[in-house]
Amino acid sequence: MNIILLGPPGAGKGTQAGFLVENRDMMQLSTGDMLREARTSGTEMGKKVAAVMDAGNLVTDEIVIGLIREKLEAGDAKGGYIFDGFPRTLAQADALGELLDELGQSLDMVIELEVNDDVLVDRIVGRAKEAAAAGQSVRADDNEESLKIRLMAYYKQTSPLIGYYYAKGHLKSVDGLASIEDVAQSIAQVMDSI
Ligand code: AMP
Repeated sequence: MNIILLGPPGAGKGTQAGFLVENRDMMQLSTGDMLREARTSGTEMGKKVAAVMDAGNLVTDEIVIGLIREKLEAGDAKGGYIFDGFPRTLAQADALGELLDELGQSLDMVIELEVNDDVLVDRIVGRAKEAAAAGQSVRADDNEESLKIRLMAYYKQTSPLIGYYYAKGHLKSVDGLASIEDVAQSIAQVMDSI
């Protein structure tokens, strides 16, 4: 089964993807993780996207579609793929559809994590504080200034995907404000319903 986890920054997509990897042998494809990895390893592309990411803006469709194409062409995810943080624009969504078609695969479901904005801001600012307290490095874009831009990018560029996938009959929404365990259970329920 191939699924997309859709929701604003801080909605819990990464956490829930982690559970699905463990419990269902799925492969998580997080473009955010891939881009951070490119930065750490100092590739040309990594250097190019650094400032854009830190500010909280989206990197170009071309770059992220290229990253996803590479993974899909290389991989055989036994339990299927979880797209986490991708697609984030309508052009990315169209490209994903075409890529999956080319590879003889399909998208089974888009799971939207519904949350509210006040909670997001608290979660992300909290995530930065926790990481700092534990001596871990804090994501450069986990600060209030970048967060506002990330939220705006979500509403302007990514939230139209909710209507797009609804119209395609792929959308399932779960309450992302419930406890982590309850959200995991809701996701399991919708996945097991098809
Ligand atoms: P994330 O870890 O998903 O919150 O992504 C961190 C940052 O990476 C985002 O704020 C963007 O700058 C960039 N990014 C990740 N995924 C995408 C994407 N699908 N399209 C454009 N930019 C992305």
